[in-house]
Amino acid sequence: MKTVFTNATLLDSTGAAPRPGMALLAAEGRIAWIGPAPEAQPPEGSRVIDLGGKTLMPGLIDVHMHITQGAEPNPIAEFTETVPFMALRGAAQASILLDSGYTTMRNLGAFGYSDVAIREAVNKGLARGPRMLVSGEMVITEGSGERGFLRPEVQIPESGMFVGAEEARRAVRRQVYNGADVIKLIASGRVGSNAYSMPWDTEMTQEEMSAVCDEAHRWGKRVAAHAYSAQSVAMCAIAGVDSIEHGALVDEPTIALMAERGVSLVPTMTAFHSYLGADAEERYPAYRLARGRPMAQHQRDHFQAYMDYGLNIATGSDGPRPGWPPGTSALEMWLLVDAGMPPMQAIQAGTRNGARVLGLEDDVGTVELGKKADLIVVDGDPVEDISILQDRKCISLVMKEGEIARE
Ligand SMILES: [Zn+2]
Repeated sequence: MKTVFTNATLLDSTGAAPRPGMALLAAEGRIAWIGPAPEAQPPEGSRVIDLGGKTLMPGLIDVHMHITQGAEPNPIAEFTETVPFMALRGAAQASILLDSGYTTMRNLGAFGYSDVAIREAVNKGLARGPRMLVSGEMVITEGSGERGFLRPEVQIPESGMFVGAEEARRAVRRQVYNGADVIKLIASGRVGSNAYSMPWDTEMTQEEMSAVCDEAHRWGKRVAAHAYSAQSVAMCAIAGVDSIEHGALVDEPTIALMAERGVSLVPTMTAFHSYLGADAEERYPAYRLARGRPMAQHQRDHFQAYMDYGLNIATGSDGPRPGWPPGTSALEMWLLVDAGMPPMQAIQAGTRNGARVLGLEDDVGTVELGKKADLIVVDGDPVEDISILQDRKCISLVMKEGEIARE
């Protein structure tokens, strides 16, 4: 399939200003030519689409999702829903995500390898969805706050659960053997936990974290670490994780350490934003808001430092979640701008920087010659008004690897 987009305003996400009057050829899944529209020579059999000045930009990237999870409040869902149901729901939600302009996503934590199943179904053409990188089950310590408050006699087997460095390696290998592209490490407690482990507690030893990173890297897999406190983030950085997920309670020395070690930050501001506003009280229990709201403030207070230290910041919605159904991932870019990031950089956080987190920067994330033709057409100028990326009516076409997924 060959497609020529002409009369496009090209927003290539390299940081260059949008260029009007451009054309692009997508052929055999890749970007085969870019140039001024009058110089375009559409090959025989190609489809020519006149964009009438609309914006042509890279497909969006969400690097932190729970695609198999529902958006309705249900604290016991993970104990009552079947794995096949989670996979079916995830597949339906992946389709919605693609239609909202997201051509690449990373899933961080799913039961029973339901995320691996969706990735395989998408790759085989059985289901619609973005390009997917998935973690399989979370690598987590026994008794973690991530799993709520179960009676000690209640055992729900999880392949990523471990205690000690040797078992940590086993937990990582199990994910790799079952199809994980990336390892999701739970280094600290969780905001929504009703257990005694708090979000700011560190659930692992340095030795355990280092074993996880060493084993994952030995297999060529990156490690994405859920961590909040400065202590847990610093330990993760020392262990060699590739990205910090959330990181809301970091201090300046820890931000400096992340920068020094080249650790990316996925601030998942949508997750903290969901605790603000009066309607949050309908979605979450009071104890969760009591923790989440100050964390949202702490994160905003340190946002300028993230930028001053030049961290690679990428967008991850941590969704779907109550109030933010599938297809609302682009809110994260709006929140970055709201916290002080220039719009062009927020667009790069939602495209190029995400590709860097995933190790896919040679293939996706910018519109450049030879890269995969993952493109969206936007009716309007997202640099002027980033909120239009949240409006599906403004995303008038989605192309994934040279194939038009929606128009
Ligand atoms: Zn998450």
